[in-house]
Amino acid sequence: MANLVVLRGVPESLSAKYVGSFAYLTIRDRLPTILTKVIDTIHRNKDKFFEEHGEEGVQAEKRAISFLSKLRNELQTDKPVLALTDDVVDTDMWNQYLLRQQVLMEENEPPSWFKSSWLYVECYMYRRIQESVRLNPPICDFDVFKEAKTQSFFESQQAIMAICTYLQGLMKNMDDLSETQLLDQFLKLLQVSLWGNKCDLSISAGQDNSQKASPIDSLEDLKPFILVDDSNLVWSALTNGKIPGGPWKLQGRVDIVLDNAGFELVTDLVFADFLVSSGLASQVHFHGKSMPWFVSDTTREDFIWTIRQTLAANHRWMSKSGAKWQHYVKDGTWSYHDHPFWTLPHEFCDMAADAPDLYATLQKADFIFFKGDLNYRKLTSDRHWAHTEPFEKALRGFHPAPLCSLRTLKANVQVGLQPGQGEDLTAREPGWMTSGKYAVVQFSSPHREQ
Ligand SMILES: [Mg+2]
Repeated sequence: MANLVVLRGVPESLSAKYVGSFAYLTIRDRLPTILTKVIDTIHRNKDKFFEEHGEEGVQAEKRAISFLSKLRNELQTDKPVLALTDDVVDTDMWNQYLLRQQVLMEENEPPSWFKSSWLYVECYMYRRIQESVRLNPPICDFDVFKEAKTQSFFESQQAIMAICTYLQGLMKNMDDLSETQLLDQFLKLLQVSLWGNKCDLSISAGQDNSQKASPIDSLEDLKPFILVDDSNLVWSALTNGKIPGGPWKLQGRVDIVLDNAGFELVTDLVFADFLVSSGLASQVHFHGKSMPWFVSDTTREDFIWTIRQTLAANHRWMSKSGAKWQHYVKDGTWSYHDHPFWTLPHEFCDMAADAPDLYATLQKADFIFFKGDLNYRKLTSDRHWAHTEPFEKALRGFHPAPLCSLRTLKANVQVGLQPGQGEDLTAREPGWMTSGKYAVVQFSSPHREQ
C-alpha cells in the first residue's frame, strides 16, 4: 500500500480506478447484474401494475425500465455521475455530495463510476434505482427487492424454526441462569446474529443465499473464522460491572443498526429479545433503511412484515416468538427508526456534522451494534487502511457511544488485526476479505480512542 496517496493521515478510498481490485470487479460485474435483475423484476410485475393502475401503470413500468437501462449504460461506459432529478428529502444532500466528490477528482475530471470512490458510486446506484421508481408514479412505492427478500425469508424457514425453538427453550430457564451461563448464552446468540450476516443478497447479486442448517449447531465449527473477537469487552460494557437478572434489571438502551432482512433480521430479533429478557437492556432501538437498499437491507415494511410472518407461522415456537416481538413493538420496548442518513453515501465520521440529529440520537444509546459489511465500510470510511491500524483510529472520531461491529467480511477493508495476521490469510486464501467466510466482533469505546 506504500504507493497509495495518504491525505491528511487518511489513506485513499477504495475505488474501481485500481484495475483488478474487488471494487473494480464489483462495478464491472456485480452491479450491472443487479441492475439487470431489477429491470427483469419490474418487467415481470407489468401485469400487476396494469391490474392496480391500468394503462398508466404499464407506461410507468416502461419509463422506469428505460431509465434503468440508461443507468446501466452510464455505469458500464464510465459516464460522469449525474445529479439527482427527483425532489425528496435527501435529493439536495446527494447533489451536494456530488460537488464534494468533484473536488477530490484529479485534473478536474468529473466524478464517474470507475474513477470515484467505490462506496460513493455503489450507494449512488441504489439511490438511482429508487429515483427510477420515484419519478414514475403510480409505481413510485414499488420495492424492487421485495420478492428477493421474501424468498430469502421463506428459504430459511428451517433455520428460523430452529433458532426460535432454541430461544423459547432458553426463556423457560432464563431466571435460573448463573452469570457464567448467562454469558455463555449471550455469546451464542451474539454469534448467531454475527453469522446471520452471511445471508446477503447484494454480494450474491440476488442469488439464493439463505441459511439452511441449524445456526446453533454450527457455532463451534465457525469460531476459528472469527478474526477479531471482542465479545468479552462487549459483555463488560453492556453489564458495566453489574450482573443482570435477579431482583433488578439494567436500564440501558441498546441500538442495533440493521443490515439485511430475511434470516439475518430474525437472528437480530432473537438477539434483541435475549437482551431484553435477560435484563441486559430495557429498550432496543432498531435502525433500518428508508428505501430499498443493497438488495436485501431491512426497510420498515420488512421489519413489520418479518414480525407478522413469524407470528403467523404454523410452528409453535416461531409463532410464540413473533407474538412476543409484536408485543415489544406495541409497548415501545422495541422501536424502528429510519433516518435518511443511513441511505446516504457518507462515511460515519461525517455524521456529527452532516446529520447532527442522528448523531445526538445515537449518543443517547448505552451501546450500539452495527451489523454487516456496508456499516463496517462506512465506519472505517472504506479506505486502504493497513490491517494493523487500530479500529478506533479508522473510526476517525465517530464515537457516539460504546459500539461493536458484527460483520462477515465481504469487502477488502479490514483493520484491527494482529501483525502478520492479514499477510498469513492473504498467503493462504487470497479471497479472505470478500468471501463472507470470515467475521469480526470488533468493539470500540469512546475512552479507548488512541
Ligand atoms: Mg446488506
